[in-house]
Amino acid sequence: MTMLTAVAAARAEVCRLHAALVTAGLVAWTSGNVSARVKGDGEGGMGRRAGGGGGDPDLMVIKPSGISYDDLTPESMVVCDLDGNRVDGEYQPSSDTASHAYVYRHMPQVGGVVHTHSAYATAWAARGEAIPCVITAMADEFGGEIPVGPFALIGGDEIGRGVVATLTGHRSPAVLMRSHGVFTIGSTAKDAVKAAVMCEDAARTVHLARAYGNPPPLPPDQVDALHRRYTTEYGQR
Ligand SMILES: [Zn+2]
Repeated sequence: MTMLTAVAAARAEVCRLHAALVTAGLVAWTSGNVSARVKGDGEGGMGRRAGGGGGDPDLMVIKPSGISYDDLTPESMVVCDLDGNRVDGEYQPSSDTASHAYVYRHMPQVGGVVHTHSAYATAWAARGEAIPCVITAMADEFGGEIPVGPFALIGGDEIGRGVVATLTGHRSPAVLMRSHGVFTIGSTAKDAVKAAVMCEDAARTVHLARAYGNPPPLPPDQVDALHRRYTTEYGQR
C-alpha cells in the first residue's frame, strides 16, 4: 500500500470510529477525539530522520478541532506529522494533537489513541481515584485497575507526557487523566476505541457496585489468569 492509499484508508477509518464514539454515548457536542498512526516506510516512532531522502516517516490522522460529529467526513480529517504539525487537510487539528503525537513518538507499538470525557469514567477522574479491579471483565481487558494520570493543561503535549508516564509498563490501555477524562491506546485505532468503550462500561459497573457496598478486589493471581486467558485464548483465533 502506498502512503497515499494508507492515509486515505486511515481518514475513512478514523471518521467511522468517531461515529462509534457517538453511538456508544461516550461524547457530547464536539468533545473527544480519535487518531490513528499511519506507518511510513521510513523511520517512524522514536526515530527522526536527519536531512530528507529515503522513505516516508510515520504520520497520524486526527479529528479537526471544534467540528460537530455530524459534519465529520473522511476528507475533513487532518493529517499531521508526529510532531503534531498539519501536513494535509483543510481544518486545524484537534487541540489534543500535540499530546496524541507525543504518545506515538514515545510508544512505537501504539497505532491508535482515543480521548473522551465519558461520564462515569470522568467521575472517577474527577475524584482522582483509580477504578479498582473488582470484576472479571476488568481483569480481562485491563489486567488490573484503571490507573489515574496527573492533572495536565490542554493544548501542548503535557497530557501526552502524563499518558505515556502512566501507561508505560502498565497492562491497562486506559488512563483516567485527573480532573479531565479518559485517554486510551491500542495497537489500532479500533482497539483504542474498544478500550474507551470498555473503560466506561467498567467505570459504570464499579460505580454502581460502590454505591451499595464495598466490592472486594480480585486476588492478583486470578487477575493474572483471567488476563492471560483473555489475551491468548479468547475469541476467534
Ligand atoms: Zn478533553
